[in-house]
Amino acid sequence: SSSSSSSPAAAADRLLGGLLSPEFDEASCLSRYEASSRWKPSPFLVSPYLVERLRRYEANHRRCGPGTARYRDAVARLRSGDGDGDAECRYVVWLPIQGLGNRMLSLVSTFLYALLTGRVVLVHEPPEMEGLFCEPFPGTSWLLPPDFPYKGGFSAASNESYVNMLKNGVVRHDDDGGGALPPYVYLHLEQIHLRLQNHTFCEEDHRVLDRFSWMVLRSDSYFAVALFLVPAYRAELDRMFPAKGSVFHHLGRYLFHPGNRAWGIVERFYDGYLAGADERLGIQVRIVPQMAVPFDVMYEQILRCTREHGLLPQVTSTSEPAGGRPPPPPTAKTKVKAVLVVSLKREYYDKLHGAYYTNATASGEAVAVYQPSHDGDQHTEARAHNERALAEIYLLSFSDAVVTTAWSTFGYVAHALAGVRPWQLAPLDWGKMRADVACARPASVEPCLHSPPPLVCRARRDRDPAAHLPFLRHCEDVPAGLKLF
Ligand code: GDP
Repeated sequence: SSSSSSSPAAAADRLLGGLLSPEFDEASCLSRYEASSRWKPSPFLVSPYLVERLRRYEANHRRCGPGTARYRDAVARLRSGDGDGDAECRYVVWLPIQGLGNRMLSLVSTFLYALLTGRVVLVHEPPEMEGLFCEPFPGTSWLLPPDFPYKGGFSAASNESYVNMLKNGVVRHDDDGGGALPPYVYLHLEQIHLRLQNHTFCEEDHRVLDRFSWMVLRSDSYFAVALFLVPAYRAELDRMFPAKGSVFHHLGRYLFHPGNRAWGIVERFYDGYLAGADERLGIQVRIVPQMAVPFDVMYEQILRCTREHGLLPQVTSTSEPAGGRPPPPPTAKTKVKAVLVVSLKREYYDKLHGAYYTNATASGEAVAVYQPSHDGDQHTEARAHNERALAEIYLLSFSDAVVTTAWSTFGYVAHALAGVRPWQLAPLDWGKMRADVACARPASVEPCLHSPPPLVCRARRDRDPAAHLPFLRHCEDVPAGLKLF
């Protein structure tokens, strides 16, 4: 633990360059100040303005958060149907969808939206997420109180959805602020055929959304990217993130701190298996049941990727060192490379482990292959399963290099937290049953927004934001997707 170090540099690092508030009790959340000592140094500076905005956010959350008179007052007005916009405190309520990676992407996005719009973010924590994350804001809580009335049953079809309100004439996009509003608005940001709905990221719509003091939001997407498409937010975003490709890296490290149970897994595994290695390589293999890449195809692609990019030493065909090479002198320390395989399936680990167990390496390095767990299938509804998933995301993020699977939000979160550009296994060409290029390095450490919003708004034609905005690109693994860099 770095808790006793007193040099200013160590203290700054412990607080991640000022991202973290020093005001927390350490024992209640061990990961908060300890994760930093296992990450590689961040490649991105934290802007002083971001730090200032976070401290301002925290103060406002304390002022308006659960347990305050202002919160009680705001809920009372919500219940009585009084939606008028002059409220002192404004809220965005985050409701979860499936998948931990998706949840973390949409939660960071919701927090960024709250930062930009002066809202307080409240998280509806289902039982399977209880204690998974520590509280991120000092002296208050981000958990939605259990008696909050609107927690479930929302979909694109809900009358409370902003797009349906527009359709039904309940609100108008050019409303000057005179008309009465419903008590809250639901913002549906779940992807539909890899698009978000139109009218969810247009400037005039955001002016209308701004008038609601209560917003309920559901999303499976990294819609933080889409906030950069709203001109009104651009100046603030520029000041907070001089390096655009650092949004998830900073906000993820700020918001997410594994609770003590998940952190216990991380520490035991890291200290027991990984800490002593000279180098750590993470390999994340995500096989989705609907598009199950056959084992042999995927395994071959992983080997091709690691061979082509020198990520793993070659094995010789015998257990003797290569080509009569003399054994290293007894005093030379053997270099140890730890390989962390993270997957729901165990066969990738089995085969890779077997390869390095049976054979010597040409370089003489020792390769130790580990897998922390292999649950078999996704179980978002199970708490212990989610704790293992979170622990494995963090373990991956402590790697020196990572190989990740295309399309996987689980992989995105791990490399973005690490601040490491991954080697991303290319999507399979199903016709050829092979990927032409085994893996590629994305332009930035940022996650991909798989489902961009149309920017048609009230114009006649959609346009491609990647063609107009210098800090946006299409994603390497998801051609229509967008990412910051
Ligand atoms: P995505 O489906 O790859 O985009 O990632 P998500 O995190 O959104 O959903 C996949 C879920 O499956 C995770 O949240 C875990 O619950 C589980 N899962 C997938 N891969 C792994 C893994 O390698 N280890 C563990 N422990 N769980 C995994």
